[in-house]
Amino acid sequence: MQPRDLSAHAKYAPGRGIEEVARDLGLDPDELVKLSSNENPHGASPAAVAAVENAAEDISVYPKAAHTDLTDALAEQWDVASDQVWVSPGADGAIDYLSRAMLEPADAVLLPEPGFSYYGMSARYHHGETATYGLSKDEGFAMTAEAVLSAYDGERMVFVTSPHNPTGSTMPREEIEALLTGVDDQTLVVLDEAYGEFAEESSSAALLEEYENLAVLRTFSKAYGLAGLRIGYALVPEAWSDAYARVSTPFAASEVALRAALAALDDDEHVERSVESASWAREHVHEELEAPTYPTEANFVLCEVGDGSAVAEAAQERGVIVRDCRSFGLPECIRVSCGTEEQTRQAVETLNAVLAERESVAEA
Ligand code: PMP
Repeated sequence: MQPRDLSAHAKYAPGRGIEEVARDLGLDPDELVKLSSNENPHGASPAAVAAVENAAEDISVYPKAAHTDLTDALAEQWDVASDQVWVSPGADGAIDYLSRAMLEPADAVLLPEPGFSYYGMSARYHHGETATYGLSKDEGFAMTAEAVLSAYDGERMVFVTSPHNPTGSTMPREEIEALLTGVDDQTLVVLDEAYGEFAEESSSAALLEEYENLAVLRTFSKAYGLAGLRIGYALVPEAWSDAYARVSTPFAASEVALRAALAALDDDEHVERSVESASWAREHVHEELEAPTYPTEANFVLCEVGDGSAVAEAAQERGVIVRDCRSFGLPECIRVSCGTEEQTRQAVETLNAVLAERESVAEA
């Protein structure tokens, strides 16, 4: 007995965990610097940690009130109706909910390349097809309506990530509006703002009032530091009032995650500190790394290092874990997440030493 034919389904390849790498290298995890998964180097807000501890008393009960409270708090924050807020287990969970809500079998979705792999995975789980639009390296991965529309062929969903993963580039507001008006009105534009807090431009949530074919994704995993709890959400069109109850997995966002998110939402200081620290780290990498880097508005920097896998591997042997971008179709690049000041300095020093060593070997 076998599952259905899954050969067309790509396997998700997460970055390796710090414990695994430490074990392989015979090191203490505390000796390693992990800048490969765009996590918050300052951890979660202390208020969220306290909320997790307090929630422990109530974990025998299905989450209800906390779900309503978080939904309402987010609705207020974004000035939308509560039924436009789809709380989910991570933004990944929200991507699944949107696929469930939108796709009939064989409907297609249009995805960025390079881009975040889960969009296509989710579409395929939901019996959909995928097509891609390219972001051109020669144009600095510029995100324009034209780049998307030149590949667009009436797909049911179009994904845009802004700031983009793995490039850090953003789609300007006027380009987003050109895209929203350029696609058919039965095409949903999904604007993934997983890294939105780190960007200058304000959220496209403000466009929900005007456009009926827009959904916005946000997460508590990055700026709020709650990646381990799995909590995110989508903001969906006004007209979808009762769809959430038809497509969401019951109680998929846990009591602990909901309570932590509520507490984190109130701790502006922690988010501000995280954003400022990422901004310092980006500048440090741009200025000090002896390799070309791409402008970024996210909490990571894409760096052009020649052979990304070799550089990532050599850095890892020296205790610094960065993301090799081969799986994004950019084998000459690595992606370096913004760490604390100390971690970022150490990562840049290590990478510079690796680059210098490779250069001297190449010259010899
Ligand atoms: N979108 C993008 C662009 C991402 O990089 C990520 C995380 N890697 C996600 C969505 C999913 O985030 P989460 O499920 O942790 O909220």
